[in-house]
Amino acid sequence: MPFGVSVAEVLDRAGAKDPAAVQVGGASGEMIGRTDFQRRVCFEDLSTAGAITTFSSRRNVLEIVAYYMDFFIDESCGYCTPCRVGNVFMKKALEKIMRGLGEPSDLDYLSELGKTIIATSRCGLGHTSPNPILSTMKHFPLVYSALLKERSGGLEAGFDIQGALDEARTIAKRRSLIYDATYGSDE
Ligand code: SF4
Repeated sequence: MPFGVSVAEVLDRAGAKDPAAVQVGGASGEMIGRTDFQRRVCFEDLSTAGAITTFSSRRNVLEIVAYYMDFFIDESCGYCTPCRVGNVFMKKALEKIMRGLGEPSDLDYLSELGKTIIATSRCGLGHTSPNPILSTMKHFPLVYSALLKERSGGLEAGFDIQGALDEARTIAKRRSLIYDATYGSDE
């Protein structure tokens, strides 16, 4: 199909059934929703070398995004820190939201971290790897906001230090001195 064709025309010619989300440009491209199907496939709008993937309304957008992030984590060569570490952190924040534990500040975190990875990575993989999360945050904001936790009094827990310490103790096979002082040691 020629450049300049609309996404709606592509979907029509392909016989797409119930298209609800379209990924233009492969994993590193942009995911758009129904309200953007009149946008055009071209360098000035939605650029792609040919990869267009369509998803029906039965698919979970965040599961698709998590799958793409796993791909980038696997494909990162590890040379530079923003890509090697940043993509893992983005995936962890995404999983936190998917488990229903996300907070509004997690969206700001994902946005800032994604921009940092794009700006500071060495090659094209890092320059585009945050796109699945950033583009779905832009085009499917309700998918994210519907999963965020409501907090009373406007307070948000920034970091679960007790949970992190428990995990570290388990890995190091160490006991908590505070726990022992409070509840007694069984050793
Ligand atoms: S951005 Fe490129 S060079 Fe840097 S870790 Fe990722 S794949 Fe390697």
